[in-house]
Amino acid sequence: DLTPITTTTTTTCGYCGVGCTLDVHTRDGTIAAITPTHGAPVNRGHACIKGRFAHTFTRADDRLIAPLVRRDGHLVETSWQEALTEVARRLAGIRDRHGPDSIAMISSARATNEENYLAQKFVRTVIGTNNIDNCSRLCHAPSAAGLTASFGLAGGTNPLDDLDRADCVLLAGANPTEAHPVVGARIKQQVLAGARLVVIDPRRTELAALADVHLQARPGSNVAVFNALAHQLIEDDLLAHDFLTERTTGLDDLTDLLQDYAPGTVANLADVRSADLIDAARTFGRAEHPVIIYGLGVTEHAHGTDGVRTLANLAILRGAVGTPGCCGILPLRGQNNVQGASDMGALPDVLPGYQPVTDPVLRDRFGAAWGRPVPERPGLRIPQMFDAAITGEVRALHVIGEDIAASDPNAGHVRAALQASELVVCHELFRSQTAEHADVVLPAASFLEKDGTFVNFDRRFQRVRPALAPPGSAATDFDILNRLASAMGADLGLPEPADAMAECASLTAVFAGISHERLDAEGPLHWPCRASDEPGEAVLHLNGFATPDGRAALAARPYLPPGEQPDAQFPHLLVTGRRLVHYNTGSMTRRTDNTALVPAETLEIHPADAAQLGVAEGAAVTITSRRGRTTLTAHLSRDVVPGQVFAAFHFPDAALNDLTSHHTDTVTGCPEYKVTAVRVQPA
Ligand code: SF4
Repeated sequence: DLTPITTTTTTTCGYCGVGCTLDVHTRDGTIAAITPTHGAPVNRGHACIKGRFAHTFTRADDRLIAPLVRRDGHLVETSWQEALTEVARRLAGIRDRHGPDSIAMISSARATNEENYLAQKFVRTVIGTNNIDNCSRLCHAPSAAGLTASFGLAGGTNPLDDLDRADCVLLAGANPTEAHPVVGARIKQQVLAGARLVVIDPRRTELAALADVHLQARPGSNVAVFNALAHQLIEDDLLAHDFLTERTTGLDDLTDLLQDYAPGTVANLADVRSADLIDAARTFGRAEHPVIIYGLGVTEHAHGTDGVRTLANLAILRGAVGTPGCCGILPLRGQNNVQGASDMGALPDVLPGYQPVTDPVLRDRFGAAWGRPVPERPGLRIPQMFDAAITGEVRALHVIGEDIAASDPNAGHVRAALQASELVVCHELFRSQTAEHADVVLPAASFLEKDGTFVNFDRRFQRVRPALAPPGSAATDFDILNRLASAMGADLGLPEPADAMAECASLTAVFAGISHERLDAEGPLHWPCRASDEPGEAVLHLNGFATPDGRAALAARPYLPPGEQPDAQFPHLLVTGRRLVHYNTGSMTRRTDNTALVPAETLEIHPADAAQLGVAEGAAVTITSRRGRTTLTAHLSRDVVPGQVFAAFHFPDAALNDLTSHHTDTVTGCPEYKVTAVRVQPA
């Protein structure tokens, strides 16, 4: 099409947590092309195949353009007035009959900060409960808990830019080449320029193949492996002694514990060579500017918070955090706005800025600003919401932009919770698996149709600007929540997204200097940003850790086994992850040309296992766990070790979350997606 581009809008990618800045070029109300913004600070003119090309879902034929309500068992189109009147009436009825805690909302890490702020304000003031959570529960809740316990703030410590001076990258439980491609490419560049690379991953990824040391550790063994590396740092005296003395606590307890974690002891448990553990520790320990980058392979475990803390120990032992020139520790957030959804207080125990809801002074402060008291009792986490729906304690589930029936683990349990609920409301782009269980489906806008901000994985607030109008009568989550509050006789008092950001900043010291006006004028800003004339702290903790005593806390955490282990009945371990061209449940990317590149999911299985099972390349295999079964096509691969299999969850017919574990992190409730005992058989 040679018709000229009519409009170019600069916005932030809504796929992964890297947060690339993109120029969206439109022609006659549709997207003609997306290009990475020249000179943007995060992506420096790069973008991946998702951000650049996976946009045609916005005008897909099956996009929801009008509300749906269930009548005689079927979802039928209706008007906004009828849909919102019904939701308002039924929510108010459930609240009045069973109390506000009988209603729970799952907010969205795909929604903007302003939408998340509004969602938690709606739940806390209009409904009167703290039952709000977001999908950080399923991915990086252990990062928030672990980094807060170690350093005092729930964010990565350094900007991505600091990777440029790293002379060693320790990459744990992450495959950024596929899941966070712009970061994957930056790591590769740094390694090709001479940085050393240690990869800890059960699978041989592209970066693992480039690594100086690849610890192909058994899923569930992270804490033991990180402890073994710390043991070796102490053994070799590769310690930042002055830093440890002046700025940390817990070294004696940790040293005592680590006596049991010599590499020779851990090697067998983790299925790695003792020499490789020693080599990895020395590679990391001898670097002047090491950086730790990690992902869901660290957090999505029954002891995920311990994993984060024992990984953080390595940075602390080396003085690689909170010191001049350090490169720090960076969690690769999964969804684009996992950091922001949590920052905005879409969590059951904290208000915006991680301010505890149990603090009466804070509750009074927010209550005075909001004109309604803030409930005191912390609310339910997502897995608890499902349990409570099944027992009848929760009667209504309101889900914003998350296909929980497809993406949450142990999907049969999620479906049971949806079926048991008296009212299910969801905001969706498409008739998702969750929508099929809903009583009311509200057609929502995509990230390309929204105004607001996201926070990326290195704590940068970035502007989101609408390049398109939502199709039909679809509306932003921001508008939907305002209209619903109005239908319930309330006024949230925030007509525009900029108003929500301004109110959040006025109540939250760490965001006090952030505003849309400033982001438009100056570009992205890191939080903490405590005043409108401060630049924001790109590097955290240089002037002291944010812990109560101002010191980084080393954690003595023993290895504990994962929720389930292979046995005679379920002899293989399933690990799930992502493919480059698709994103999570695939609801957006499967509706684009990216599907031509990966049209279906396969199960990666080692040739030795395949031979033992009599399975050839391309054969159908059935995978069964204690919770369910699904069928996939086998792909023989030496990237997985014998005894382990790997697949992604982008396709509904590869229903991997029917299989995944019901075990959760003991501290945060984050599900153990990464360790599922399964049986693989020819179909
Ligand atoms: Fe979007 Fe992530 Fe790709 Fe950047 S790397 S274009 S943020 S999906």
